[in-house]
Amino acid sequence: MLVVKKFGGSSVADRERIMNVARRCIEDYEKGNDVVVVLSAMGKTTDGLLEKAREITETPSKRELDMLLVTGEQVSVALMAMAFQSLGVQAVSLNAAQVAMRTTSAYGQAKLKRIDTERIRNELDARKIVVITGFQGINKYDDMTTLGRGGSDTTAVALAVALHADFCEIYTDVDGVYTADPRIVPNAKKLSEVSYDEMLEFASLGAKVLHNRSVEMAKRYGVKLVVLSSLTRAEGTIIKEKTS
Ligand code: ASP
Ligand code: MG
Repeated sequence: MLVVKKFGGSSVADRERIMNVARRCIEDYEKGNDVVVVLSAMGKTTDGLLEKAREITETPSKRELDMLLVTGEQVSVALMAMAFQSLGVQAVSLNAAQVAMRTTSAYGQAKLKRIDTERIRNELDARKIVVITGFQGINKYDDMTTLGRGGSDTTAVALAVALHADFCEIYTDVDGVYTADPRIVPNAKKLSEVSYDEMLEFASLGAKVLHNRSVEMAKRYGVKLVVLSSLTRAEGTIIKEKTS
């Protein structure tokens, strides 16, 4: 099986959490699966980078802003690859240029167009865990672009489509999709299954579980998504075409 596992910023916020994620991925790898890991920037890194830009100018060029923001995800993937290696598992980190994840030109709101899979395939064939930057791409000028806030979810789904993954798992700090935000509404109920359309509806109502484009893409290509927590072993929520 080939699994794409995406971890958000809170799941890789510090050393402990990075090691925890590495161990969980290794469990999958040791079952014989091919494992592709997609990461966001650590914790509040992206907000911190935006703040740094603002300290220089209120009107940064969009190209330079993307050049700055993509560094966050690169820190995450390099540290994660080191974590795997420290645990005795071969791994390699790749950014969007190294993979060749092509996007439209629009800085700050680029859309993924094409992903080359050759490099990833070669690394997986060499039994490495492949750790890839979420949220970023390269445009026709070979400049770095970003997909909009929360865009790493979409990177993960796009990779799942390109690699014909069996599953795309999205790990967050809540253990699934709830009827309301469990951090605000204490008796919110976790759903075991949700349809793509319900998920899109939740998003339009302001729920920020997944990047909207990731759900649209999953629906279009029939990618089975699972939303779950990196911190607990709870079962999570499956997002698919129809719920039973
Ligand atoms: N790091 C980016 C953000 O904060 C992308 C992501 O987390 O998906 O928006
Ligand atoms: Mg997110």
